[in-house]
Amino acid sequence: MHPFVLTRADDSASAIAAHSQDVQLAFIAGGTDLVALMKDGMELPERLLDINGLPGTERIEELPDGGLRIGALARMSDVAADGRVRARFPVIAEALLFSASGQLRNMATMGGNIMQRTRCAYFRDGDALPCNKREPGSGCSALHGLNRNHAIFGWSASCVATHPSDVAVAFAALDANVIVRGRVGERPIPFAEFYRPPSSTPERDNVLGRGDLIVAIEVPARPEGRASHYLKVRDRQSYEFALVSVAAAVETDGERLRSVRLAMGGVAHKPWRLLAAERALRGILLGNTNGLRSAIAQSFSEARPLTHNGFKVELSQRAALRALLTAGARA
Ligand code: SF4
Repeated sequence: MHPFVLTRADDSASAIAAHSQDVQLAFIAGGTDLVALMKDGMELPERLLDINGLPGTERIEELPDGGLRIGALARMSDVAADGRVRARFPVIAEALLFSASGQLRNMATMGGNIMQRTRCAYFRDGDALPCNKREPGSGCSALHGLNRNHAIFGWSASCVATHPSDVAVAFAALDANVIVRGRVGERPIPFAEFYRPPSSTPERDNVLGRGDLIVAIEVPARPEGRASHYLKVRDRQSYEFALVSVAAAVETDGERLRSVRLAMGGVAHKPWRLLAAERALRGILLGNTNGLRSAIAQSFSEARPLTHNGFKVELSQRAALRALLTAGARA
């Protein structure tokens, strides 16, 4: 493995200063993705700054509006088990429980989870074949190669990869904010703006720059939060990334949908909101299956499947309907 120097940060100000001045330095917390990336040669930082000791960033705190501020260093297992998360946003708890093994959830942090890099096999399998995300300008082997697991929305000829995080899909559905502390203070970044489109620079996954440290994720109170559900469809039932997944959250007036939030995983470089479907679903009765199906279909006219993943277009719509009905049954 590539040699590196490990030091520990005592406070966020010095951690941010060190990161902003040293392009060879990376933050490490749970390390469940970064260490694998380093072993396989995708990331080769010379210095690692352990941020596990930064005070206060492991807590789950109340927001004045009834939402929650989830510290970036909170462990996945602690967030999934938190009574407030389970009661107010079951979609978050379910997404975490479907994400990884118990051992990984005990180790991995929330900030690290949303920073995971793609599981595209061409990216992860060393340098045997071209990959623009690993080596800019080398080409995309998946575009005309094996692309069954890849995107149907938002891809470019430079990269057709999907984002692997489950809980990011739940956060996107709830319009959560990533709270980033940098050299000039703290700022919220809406989930919709956090991940960069692949365009011609797929090597950059998100909008963070040098000296930016994720300190929390804030989930505002949502009337749809309690009636929410995360559905993950995958090739095997355990320890597998999503073929497609859906975060659904609803508010109802009796049997009628008053408002709907739908986001999908496994279909794009970021959690993909089904905004056209959300608008079309308002006012439809939960028992009107054909109406629900037609409304969901409105978000799929823009789908652009690749050679091997056309099945995702139908699978996604069926999964969205099932997740919607499960969330609706909780309202
Ligand atoms: Fe690399 Fe993206 Fe193409 Fe996969 S889809 S080979 S990550 S450029």
